[in-house]
Amino acid sequence: MDCIFCKILKGEIPSKKVYEDEFVYAFYDINPMAPVHMIVIPKVHIESANAIDATNSMNIAKVFEAIPVIARELGLEDGYRVITNIGENGGQTVKHIHFHILGGTKLAGKLV
Ligand code: AMP
Ligand code: ZN
Repeated sequence: MDCIFCKILKGEIPSKKVYEDEFVYAFYDINPMAPVHMIVIPKVHIESANAIDATNSMNIAKVFEAIPVIARELGLEDGYRVITNIGENGGQTVKHIHFHILGGTKLAGKLV
C-alpha cells in the first residue's frame, strides 16, 4: 500500500519520533504550522475518522490515551489543539488517520 505514514512506521521514510508505544506513534510534522506541531497516528492503517468502527476504535482510544502524555512531554500545559482532517472537503492529504497536535503559542485561526 502506498501510504507515507505506513512507510514511516516501517522506517522506510525517516521521521523525528516524539512518542511510541504498542499502538501509537507520534512524530514532528515536516511542515509545522505552530511552534509545536506533532502528528499522532495509530500503528494500524485506518483511512480517516470516517473509517472508525467497532473493530478498530480501540486504536483510536489508544491515540487519545497517548495525547496527554505527549502534551506533557512537550510542555503544553497552557493548552493546545487536536485536529483531524477528513476527506476531500476536510482537507485531508494523507489517507492514514492522524491527529495534529498544535501548540506552543496562543493559537490563531479558531474555526469553532
Ligand atoms: P493532513 O493535511 O491533515 O492530511 O495532514 C498531513 C500532514 O502530514 C501535513 O501537515 C504534512 O506536513 C505532514 N507530512 C507529510 N509528509 C510527512 C513526513 N514525511 N513527515 C512528517 N510529516 C509529514
Ligand atoms: Zn497507512
